[in-house]
Amino acid sequence: MKIILLGAPGAGKGTQAQFISKQLNIPQISTGDMLRAAVKNQTDLGLKAKDIMEKGELVPDDLILDLVKDRISESDCNNGFLFDGFPRTLDQASALKDRGIAIDCVIEIMVDDNEIIQRMSGRRVHPGSGRTYHITHNPPKKENIDDQTGEPLIQRPDDNEETVKKRLAIYHEQTYPLVEFYKDLSDKQSSATYVEINGVGHIDDIQSQIVKELEKLK
Ligand code: AMP
Repeated sequence: MKIILLGAPGAGKGTQAQFISKQLNIPQISTGDMLRAAVKNQTDLGLKAKDIMEKGELVPDDLILDLVKDRISESDCNNGFLFDGFPRTLDQASALKDRGIAIDCVIEIMVDDNEIIQRMSGRRVHPGSGRTYHITHNPPKKENIDDQTGEPLIQRPDDNEETVKKRLAIYHEQTYPLVEFYKDLSDKQSSATYVEINGVGHIDDIQSQIVKELEKLK
């Protein structure tokens, strides 16, 4: 199963991606996490991406496409994968299509901008794994500590309010057109299912909406 998770930054894609990836036993491919790892390891890609990411802008399509192409050629992707944060532009989506990578399902997690701005300020991340928490909606068992490793959580530098507003503007301008792109595709090809999930509410309710939709695909 090849799935794309669509939604604004802060809509909860990361949290739901971890859940879906476990449910379906497919790897979660988060271009954001891969880029953060590249920045941390100071690779060529990381050096190119660092400033762009800190400003909340998008990394150029060619760099992202190379990254994704390499990742999906790894053996754990043989039975499918879940894209989280990719594609983010029409050019990225068209490149996937042109390369014959047929997506089975696009799941859009819908959350409005005001809710997102409030959420981002409470988001905390475990930098080693990319696991995300929210101080009130999805808190770790121990304050500011990752449940699995016991290591401290951080606030991402691009989660401050000004950068969040900029990321949302870029989302509406460059990524939101993918909603129409994939709805159209789904109308033309019944095998490419488009699913809308209400991303506001308790995390368990959002997960059960997703489970219900995934059941329909079987
Ligand atoms: P995320 O963790 O998905 O919110 O990504 C963090 C940052 O990484 C974004 O604000 C972009 O700067 C960059 N990024 C992640 N995925 C992509 C992508 N598919 N295309 C371009 N830039 C990306």
